[in-house]
Amino acid sequence: MHNIVNNLILINKELSTINNNTKIIAVSKTFSMEHIKPIIDYGHIHFGENKVQEALEKWTKIKDKNNSLKLHLIGKLQTNKVKFCLPLFDFIHSLDSIKLAEKLANEQAKKNFKPKLFIQVNIGEEDQKNGISLKEFENFYKKTEDFELDIIGLMCIPPFVDDTKVFFEKMVQIRDKTNLKELSMGMSNDYLSAAKNSATYLRIGSKIFGARD
Ligand SMILES: *Cc1c(COP(=O)(O)O)cnc(C)c1O
Repeated sequence: MHNIVNNLILINKELSTINNNTKIIAVSKTFSMEHIKPIIDYGHIHFGENKVQEALEKWTKIKDKNNSLKLHLIGKLQTNKVKFCLPLFDFIHSLDSIKLAEKLANEQAKKNFKPKLFIQVNIGEEDQKNGISLKEFENFYKKTEDFELDIIGLMCIPPFVDDTKVFFEKMVQIRDKTNLKELSMGMSNDYLSAAKNSATYLRIGSKIFGARD
């Protein structure tokens, strides 16, 4: 059996021991469709990309043929790229400004296609990271109600530290102040901890596909 299929099976097995129904987004950025194909054939559904242009080139055809596939945009979305990202992306994890909320609302009406959205939270309050700060969150969340967006949850990329558990716990606290259900958090180095701490979508790249160059 192909190596990356094995990797995915092992992760699924680990997660089943935690006994939750967390979904794995296989983050396929930088890898060619040829490299990704075995786990599509295996039946994996959720895939993640961080660049709109790369995703368009890689996924347009195969999504047309296989409409059970779900594509997630996990990287920054520039407002001028919004028109290219619908209906390609079923999920967008990087809602981080009102300007973007407005653009998405206009574009989803035009295309008659409503992506599911996550608000990105800058959980470590890091200057270099995107996302809504903890101070602004409540106000931002309220403002998004002006648009008819399908916001389903919160997403974070925690600071690069050994133990990210405290950030996952903080995300749960913030989520619990909203009506939102989903939490997109946990990557190759901390997905087990994320799964134990209420993540509902894990974004796993290198642990499945191997190291990126
Ligand atoms: C690349 C990326 C991932 C996956 O990272 P790995 O460490 O390879 O699992 C997850 N989330 C985001 C936002 C990414 O850009």
